[in-house]
Amino acid sequence: MRVGLGHDTHRLVPNRKLVLGGVPVPFDRGPEGHSDADVLLHAVTDALLGAAGLGDIGQWFPPTDPRWQDADSTMFVQAAVAEVRRRGWRIANLDCTVFAERPKLGDVRPRIRTRLAELLGIDEQFVNVKAKTGEKVGPIGRGEAISADAIVLLVRDDAAP
Ligand code: MG
Repeated sequence: MRVGLGHDTHRLVPNRKLVLGGVPVPFDRGPEGHSDADVLLHAVTDALLGAAGLGDIGQWFPPTDPRWQDADSTMFVQAAVAEVRRRGWRIANLDCTVFAERPKLGDVRPRIRTRLAELLGIDEQFVNVKAKTGEKVGPIGRGEAISADAIVLLVRDDAAP
């Protein structure tokens, strides 16, 4: 078995769309970034790469590369899933936490879970999504930033070539 940890933070700014776990979330601000800046998918990508010993998202998809300008971050997760599988690993489960003072994620949380399960190719029962505020403290609490943590467990896939 292998465990992998992912973390990401983006500044929240006006005139940017907020996308979390591949799901658009209505809000008056969004994360600043080169791609669509989906903080949750970036954390999940790093957790997958980390578990398989494959470095991090910045090495695979450099923010200086014009190909990733406004990129849909689902492609980063899909690429990481493919690399993990190619090396003979199966994804056992994902647990993750989104940290944001606003918006409240209650309504979209089930859709984010469904989308993450789709992207990882695993049943929803193996995906868990949590949400926390910053308790009005620090950059998260002041609404200046959004961040996410993710942890993934891989198990050896005996069926792999
Ligand atoms: Mg990021």
